[in-house]
Amino acid sequence: MTSTAQYIDLAKADPEAPISRGLFEQVMTPNYAPMDMLPSHGKGSRLWDTNGKEYLDFAGGIAVSAMGHVHPKLVSALVEQANKFWHVSNVLTNQPALELAWKLCAATFAERVFLANSGAEVNEAALKLARRYAVNRFSEDKYEILAFDNAFHGRTLFTVSVGGQPDYSNGFGPKPGGISHCPFNDSDAVRGWFDQHQDRACAVILEPCQGEGGVTPASEEFVQTVRECCDRFQALMIFDEIQTGVGRSGALYTYQKLGVTPDILTTAKALGCGFPVSAMLTTEEIGSHLVVGTHGSTFGGNPMACAVACEVLNLINTPELLGNVEARSQQLVQGLEKINATHDVFREIRGIGLLLGCELHEKYAGKARDILRICTESGLLVLVAGASVLRLAPPLNISEEDIEEGLGLLKMAVARMIEEAV
Ligand code: PLP
Repeated sequence: MTSTAQYIDLAKADPEAPISRGLFEQVMTPNYAPMDMLPSHGKGSRLWDTNGKEYLDFAGGIAVSAMGHVHPKLVSALVEQANKFWHVSNVLTNQPALELAWKLCAATFAERVFLANSGAEVNEAALKLARRYAVNRFSEDKYEILAFDNAFHGRTLFTVSVGGQPDYSNGFGPKPGGISHCPFNDSDAVRGWFDQHQDRACAVILEPCQGEGGVTPASEEFVQTVRECCDRFQALMIFDEIQTGVGRSGALYTYQKLGVTPDILTTAKALGCGFPVSAMLTTEEIGSHLVVGTHGSTFGGNPMACAVACEVLNLINTPELLGNVEARSQQLVQGLEKINATHDVFREIRGIGLLLGCELHEKYAGKARDILRICTESGLLVLVAGASVLRLAPPLNISEEDIEEGLGLLKMAVARMIEEAV
C-alpha cells in the first residue's frame, strides 16, 4: 500500500544558520515582545548573549532562577535522572515525585501534594479543588470565589478570570462565573464581601505579595482578616506563592512569616529554578476530595522535574541561604535608597526579601520600561511590574559584590533615564 502522508525533510528546510532573534517574528505567535538580544549561556548570576555581551541577571527569568544559572548540583540532579528514565505518566508513580512531595510536606503545613508543571496549572487545580470540596462537604451553592484587584494567577481561562487585571481576561468569550474582586489590603472590603455572600463563600485566593500587579506586600492585618473570615464562613484560604515561595521572602514560604496558615498553597517558578515544575499543597482532609478521575496532568510529577526540585529544596531550605536572602535584601534596599537620595526618582521602595519593587514618582510615571531598556544596554537585566514599577528579583545565592555592581549599573541607568526625560 502506498502512503499518502506528506513528508518534509527538515534538514533541507532548515533556516539559515545561525538562528537569530529575527526569526521570532517569522515563526512565533506575537503574544510576547522579547528583547533584542538572544541568550547564549549563563553561570551563576551572569548571562551572556550570542554576541558575547555579559549581563548581570537581576531578573532571574521572572523570579525563577533562584540559584542562578546552571548551578552544578542542579545540573547533576537533572543529568542523573535523565540517564535513568524521563517519563512514565501517572499510570506509575516515581521516586523523585514521592521524595519531592514528602519534602514539601515535611517543610510546610502540607499533608498532601498535587504535582504539575506551571503556576497557572496548580492555581487551576487549587480553585477546582476548593469548589469540589465545598460542593462535597457543604452545598452546590457554595462556589463564590473572592480574589483581588491587580492580582495575577495565570493565563488559563479560570485563573485569568480570577486574576484582577481585566485586560488579560476580556475578549475571550464568556468567563467562568462566581468570581468577585475586592481592593487588595482592604480588610473592610473583605468583611463586606463575606457578609454579602455568607454560606456561599467558597474560597479566597491571594498572593502574600502581589508580584505582577506592582510588588505590593499584603499587610499582616489583612492576611489575618482573610483567615478569620474564611474560618467563620468555612471557606478555604488559598495562598498563591508562585512568585513569593521557595525562599524569595527569606522564609521557605512567605506564610511562615505572616502568622497564618493557608488551606491550600501553590508553588512553581523557583521550585525548579528553571525546570518546569509546580505543586499544590494542602491538608489530608481537603486533598482527599481530589479522588481518582477528578483532576490530572500527563507531565505532572515528571521525574526529571522532581529530581531537580528535590535538589532545589536541599539548596534553598537552609539557614545560610535564607540568611543570605535577608542580608542581600537589606543591602539592596539601602543601595536603592541611596540612589533615591541622589536622584529622587522613586515614590516607594517595597517588597519582600529579594522581590523588590521601586515605584516611580508621578513625574516619571510610565518610564519603568525605559529604565529596563537602559539597564539592558548597560549589561543589567531587570524587570518591570506595570508601567511605573521597576522590579528586581536577583538569585537568592547572589554575592555582596554582585549586588554592589548591579546597584552601580542601576544608578547610571536611572541618571540616563532622567536625562532622556527632560
Ligand atoms: N501566580 C503568580 C503569583 C505568578 O506570579 C504567576 C506568574 O508570573 C503565575 C501565577 C502563573 O504562573 P505560570 O506562568 O507558571 O503559569
